[in-house]
Amino acid sequence: MGELMRQFDWQENVLGNPENWPLQLKQQTGIMLNTPSPMMICWGKDLIRLYNDASIPILGINRHPGALGVSVYQTFAGGQDTIKPLLEKVMGGEAVAFEDFKVRINRNGQEEDVYFDFSYTPITDEYMVIHGILVICTETTAKVAALEGMRIANKEISRSKEVLAIDNEQLSASQKNLQKIVYELAESEHRVRSIVENAPFPIGVYMGKEMRIAFANKAIIDIWGKGSEVIGRKYSELLPELSDQSVFTQMDNVYTTGEPFHARNQRIDLIVDNNPLTYYFNYSFTALKDRQGKIYGVMNTGADVTDSVLAKQLVEETSDELAALNEELAASNEELQAINDQLASTNEELAESRKQLATANEELATSASRLQMAIESTSLGTWEYIPKTGELYWSKELRDIYGIPEHQPPTMEAFASHIHPDDDQWVQLQIATAMDPVKGGRYDLSYRIIRFDNNETRWIKVQGTVYFDEGEAARFIGTAFDITELKEAQEKTAKLAAIIASTDDAIISKTFESIITSWNASAERMFGYSADEMIGESIYKLIPPDRLEEEPLILSRLRSGERVQHFETKRLTKDGRLIDVSVTVSPVKDNAGKIIGLSKIARDITERKLDENRKNDFIGMVSHELKTPLTSLSAILQVAKAKLNNTDDTFLAGAMQKANHQVKRMSTLINGFLNISRLESGKILIEKKPFDLEALIQDVADETRVTATTHIIDVSGCNAIEVNADQDKIQSVVSNFISNAIKYSANGTSIRVTCQRSQNDAIISVQDEGIGIHPTDAERIFDRYYRVESNNTRHISGFGIGLYLSAEIIERHGGRVWLESEVGKGSTFYFSLPL
Ligand code: ADP
Repeated sequence: MGELMRQFDWQENVLGNPENWPLQLKQQTGIMLNTPSPMMICWGKDLIRLYNDASIPILGINRHPGALGVSVYQTFAGGQDTIKPLLEKVMGGEAVAFEDFKVRINRNGQEEDVYFDFSYTPITDEYMVIHGILVICTETTAKVAALEGMRIANKEISRSKEVLAIDNEQLSASQKNLQKIVYELAESEHRVRSIVENAPFPIGVYMGKEMRIAFANKAIIDIWGKGSEVIGRKYSELLPELSDQSVFTQMDNVYTTGEPFHARNQRIDLIVDNNPLTYYFNYSFTALKDRQGKIYGVMNTGADVTDSVLAKQLVEETSDELAALNEELAASNEELQAINDQLASTNEELAESRKQLATANEELATSASRLQMAIESTSLGTWEYIPKTGELYWSKELRDIYGIPEHQPPTMEAFASHIHPDDDQWVQLQIATAMDPVKGGRYDLSYRIIRFDNNETRWIKVQGTVYFDEGEAARFIGTAFDITELKEAQEKTAKLAAIIASTDDAIISKTFESIITSWNASAERMFGYSADEMIGESIYKLIPPDRLEEEPLILSRLRSGERVQHFETKRLTKDGRLIDVSVTVSPVKDNAGKIIGLSKIARDITERKLDENRKNDFIGMVSHELKTPLTSLSAILQVAKAKLNNTDDTFLAGAMQKANHQVKRMSTLINGFLNISRLESGKILIEKKPFDLEALIQDVADETRVTATTHIIDVSGCNAIEVNADQDKIQSVVSNFISNAIKYSANGTSIRVTCQRSQNDAIISVQDEGIGIHPTDAERIFDRYYRVESNNTRHISGFGIGLYLSAEIIERHGGRVWLESEVGKGSTFYFSLPL
């Protein structure tokens, strides 16, 4: 700036040549130019500006160097209003300063806000006359910045203080909370502990590999049943009974692997208070780990499910029973269904009956209207008599009953003359009585009449009423009916009843349900019960307990229309005696032939039976006595025959042969009688053992062929049949059948013995080509002593015991005998043996 000022053309300026400048101006300018701070001098009345280098930025680059030597008023264009009063004030002698004035300047090539303190000081001479103004500028930008920073900092601080205050408040609140939490924590730990301790399910904590019990709640202590001193003890020592129940292994696994273990419905057997008890548990073992994940123990929790498991088992067990029950139920349901079906059909029947009832009712109604017609057709005669006039009226039916000729009017005389002479007197008496006003009124008689037309005697029933008029019979009305047939029937019935009453046989009628409906006097005598006692009772009252099956058998035969005749059995009397009876039972039929009941005639054959027994005993005894001489006779004959065989005497030899044959016949007969007496006295014994049927039949056939050369005997189909029977007795049956076949058929004919095997039995038959048997004989041919009486059989000897014995033997084996026969063609006798 010094340079610039020296070069400046001051000649032309108001200030003039600087050499001529007043002293103050010179001095001040020199100081200014050497001062590093911005300084300006404004001189003279026009305030001409001089300035140093440091002022250039404050002036602005645009006003430098133009502002040098120029009035301030000119360079402050636009700013004159504010600066001019300030400058005049200073020129008036007052120094003015203002601090931290912001100026926007261009410094170092860029615009920036800069702060200055400005001081305006008047420049005076030695006479204190003011010539100009010294302007000194001190930059305060740093101070302003520092102040601003401080202000901001202060603001920050005060804000922080506020925040701090709030934080403090929160802090104290948090502290309070913390205290509360700590307290609650303690509380809840206590609570949790008491909950766990009193939990209804078992909880236990075991420490270390040895499973030392660190915690056990009441539930688990109760289950263990080892007292309450369990803490600190080893699990395995406390519960040794678990050693073989895999619990220790499960715990150990959890402890070593850290994997939890869960069991469901596990059976656990414990010794509780010294008693072995079975429990079922759902339980878990869980590993307990510290912060580092190291396992330090095992927690055991569980639930006692014994009740539910037992219940389930029970349910399973009962489910089987239930299944069975269900089956039964199903069966009952079926039965029910069946009953229902029956009911349904009963209902149908009911409906049907109702219908029938309805029709019957209808019919009843119609029949009422037909009554009149019916009277006419049933020949019910009506009559009317007026005693006063002697008038008599007879209906057509009555005229028919009497057979009175059509043209002849009835009169009391004619009526009286046709009463049967035996009844005439008492009938007249009855009529007179009926007309007596004191004793009479009604009239009901049965008597005989003599018909007009053919003089026939008829029975009639007459009923009448007398109507009186002032104590005199005025009118006599009535009916009459021919009851001749009824009378006859009554007489017949009375006769029958008399017969029934007087017969020695018990005559009893009964229903198919075996209920007694009539009981005659002989029945009373025979069984000791009165009719009153027995009518309505069951016939089973008379049957001994060991014969109860007889009745259904008899009934089944009667149902098929058969008669049961001369059935010999035993019956019980009222006083407990067993009597022998021969019973004949026949069906009782109604007019339409329908069986409506049964009549039973029982004959007491006790005496006859006793006789028979005596006879049997006698026969048995005699036969037995005869056997001994016969046996020795037979032996003697054998020897004699053997001896004679060696001689030439053919006659004697032949005679011996015949004698021998006769002795054999006789011994067969005697054996038969012996067998009968044995049989009847129950001494015959069946001794069964298995044997071959063919061998037996061949034996009999062979033996017969030796004695009877007259017939051809043929055996077939009997091989490989084994029966279990009494061999001797079966042999006698076969023998009897074959010898009968020979006896009752012509010489030279064939006899065929055949065997058959059916499902359950062997059937043996003997067929001949003989005389045959009539069906009526066939019925009784197996009866004892029964023989067919005919010209064919008269010359054939026999007693009729062979077939009887055979049948008895077979029946005692559980088999059956029967025959097929045709007269003149031949017979086949069969018997069966159960296999
Ligand atoms: P018996 O022959 O000794 O008289 P049975 O009891 O053996 O006694 O026979 C009873 C009756 O049956 C005989 O009298 C006879 O009339 C008849 N009879 C038995 N077998 C035959 C047969 N094969 N052919 C015809 N009639 C027979």
